[in-house]
Amino acid sequence: MKLGCIADDFTGATDLANNLVRAGMRVVQTIGVPTGPAPDVDAVVVALKSRTAPVAEAVAESLAAARWLRRHGAGQIYFKVCSTFDSTAQGNIGPVAEALMDELGADFAIVTPAFPENARTVFKGHLFVGDVLLSDSPMRHHPLTPMTDANLVRVLQPQLRSRRVGLIDHRAVARGEAAVRERIAALMTEGFTLAIADAVSDDDLRVLARASADLRVVVAGSGLAIGIPALHGLVPSAQAAALPPAVGTRAVISGSCSAATNGQVAHFIAQCGAAFAIDPLRLAEGQDLAAQALTWALPRLGARPVLVYATAEPAAVKAVQQQLGAEQAGALVERTLATVASGLVQAGVKQLVVAGGETSGACVQALGITQLRIGPQIDPGVPWCHAAVPGVHLALKSGNFGGPDFFTRAFALL
Ligand code: ADP
Repeated sequence: MKLGCIADDFTGATDLANNLVRAGMRVVQTIGVPTGPAPDVDAVVVALKSRTAPVAEAVAESLAAARWLRRHGAGQIYFKVCSTFDSTAQGNIGPVAEALMDELGADFAIVTPAFPENARTVFKGHLFVGDVLLSDSPMRHHPLTPMTDANLVRVLQPQLRSRRVGLIDHRAVARGEAAVRERIAALMTEGFTLAIADAVSDDDLRVLARASADLRVVVAGSGLAIGIPALHGLVPSAQAAALPPAVGTRAVISGSCSAATNGQVAHFIAQCGAAFAIDPLRLAEGQDLAAQALTWALPRLGARPVLVYATAEPAAVKAVQQQLGAEQAGALVERTLATVASGLVQAGVKQLVVAGGETSGACVQALGITQLRIGPQIDPGVPWCHAAVPGVHLALKSGNFGGPDFFTRAFALL
């Protein structure tokens, strides 16, 4: 293993893994801290659920992941955070970064959530989402991690216990690797041990990746990953994304209610027709819709995918949530869809698309999956994956990702 990665949430982990694969690395994503031997790949991405966990828990899990990754040969630890730098005044970006640096004896770390391809840029230490500052973006209203300051130096400093955070600004990055290294050396002389790094283009990210090749810890969104495989002599190749041949029958499970997913469900029904709807109100009445969905689906399994969905338009979701409570409705639907996913896989489905971040988490858990090999990209941020246990190809699509024909086009790419 050349690179060890720790991601603070599941879909972020996949996003990072996808970028590494596209740039030529063979990558496995693990669900939680792995145990046992390391897979034979270039990078392992450990997916945690630590973004909004209590600080001590996030630190402990991240350290456990770092120790496993180091034990299995990782020279550098890439701490993957959200591209909108989602964190609270307490963390968890600062405390986890600091703990990883202490653990690895790192004397300096760069920090950059920039990912220009996804419209996240950092200039003079300020994070832009598209054309607006982070603090003017919808992220300022986020229910768990409202981001009301776009100045990342100012955001990160109070999260740190003893370290000081500086800035590698664009004047240095634009002059290239040597200038960034000089800037790091100068910051270190002044007593800074972390720095927010500006990046407004893919070239800037490649410069930063080269300049931080010797650093034991980097803290970044998924963007910096585009420059790392080249440091190990790797180039983009179909081989990096190669998965075992696809076998078995096909299904789609959809529990996301985002605008994109609603469009994908409507498109699928218009194209294929084979769809079974899960109504949360009937679930709450005690009806066993998972069993009904499986009875409906099993005779229909074949080369053409079947769809089981709870996806609904915002007004319908609101009505359900008013009656059942948002959390209860969500948990009920997730449980049901995960049961359906298990039943389908037991019945021979080996190519499965799941829509929804939480829904994906529930299905992956129900299927007992702990490791995923990352394959070719279907749409930005969403690759095909393969779980050797239980032997299934999976595409896990979070909310608003994917074009309207995602559910049908995905299978054509396997
Ligand atoms: P996304 O990635 O779009 O946020 P998630 O799966 O993370 O999708 O979240 C969607 C949540 O909505 C899940 O908890 C799911 O169980 C729930 N849900 C799905 N369908 C409905 C529905 N018809 N009514 C209420 N809640 C629903």
